[in-house]
Amino acid sequence: MGAATPAAGSPPTKHPRHLLDLAGWTAEQVHALFDTSDVMAQVMTRTIKKVPALQGFTVGTLFFEDSTRTRLSFERAARAQSADVISFAAGGSSVSKGESLKDTLKTIDAMKSDLYVVRHPAAGAPLQLTRWTDAAIVNAGDGRRAHPTQALLDAYTFRTSFPGYAGFEGVELAIVGDVAHSRVARSNVELWTKLGARVRLCGPRTLLPDELGERPGVTLTHRVEEAVEGAHAVMALRLQTERMAGGLLPSLAEVRERYQVNRARMRLAHPDALVMHPGPMNRDVEIEGVLADDPRSVVERQVANGVPVRMAVLYTLLVGSR
Ligand code: ASP
Repeated sequence: MGAATPAAGSPPTKHPRHLLDLAGWTAEQVHALFDTSDVMAQVMTRTIKKVPALQGFTVGTLFFEDSTRTRLSFERAARAQSADVISFAAGGSSVSKGESLKDTLKTIDAMKSDLYVVRHPAAGAPLQLTRWTDAAIVNAGDGRRAHPTQALLDAYTFRTSFPGYAGFEGVELAIVGDVAHSRVARSNVELWTKLGARVRLCGPRTLLPDELGERPGVTLTHRVEEAVEGAHAVMALRLQTERMAGGLLPSLAEVRERYQVNRARMRLAHPDALVMHPGPMNRDVEIEGVLADDPRSVVERQVANGVPVRMAVLYTLLVGSR
């Protein structure tokens, strides 16, 4: 398959069969996946951005919730490796006619895919699907529980973008905003602490669950200045109103004044700190619009890195660990 194989001579690292979250992954497995992502990123710099690595495999994308970046990125990642792709989106499907999750999966599975990329509003839905199909399952976001490929591409972006990157030991990541409803925050906490970094979570009282602070390597604060001070990367999160029960919503003015990631607050961070956002961004609410376009911002690079990282995930689950 040419250059799209992991470096010759490196011992194969056995990875889990599915990617539901990062709980079952070791730091070594994550770094092996990042090494494969480096190879895939090289493919994406070529004139012809395509390798035959997954020829003959079919990837199904099953999206029961809206998405812009994630679905396109997985489809790009599959096609760049010559896999066939079938796409399902709940809007405009028989789900709106009352078809159950199981029947929907059984119907699509009858058309034979090797791996499904699943996004669902219910936490645990991707795990449930592993019981109904022999195909591999990749979680592309389940409720507020987990979004593992977002965390992988965030950490990979840090690894490839932080000046003088020397590993994750001693790194401080600040995540600011609606932590409570964020699967991105939960997966990043899981991943970055596993890799040796510390994570500071910051947000209004109603949007910062105490239990997240009980994990080793994680601290909670309601003061954004405290979260940002000396941080090597600062990630802003939007208010995820679609996952909010009533009574939790702080005013936009409060978010802007007390929690916005902006240029003034970034002066407190490490001088080389990266500004991150998983998207979709609400400019001038949780992130200052001009900061999103500032050289410190790696928001577009996060999106770009989503492709090689997801290429590596698909390759690893379908071929690499067999
Ligand atoms: N796109 C991310 C997610 O699906 C973050 C967000 O929606 O705010 O969780």
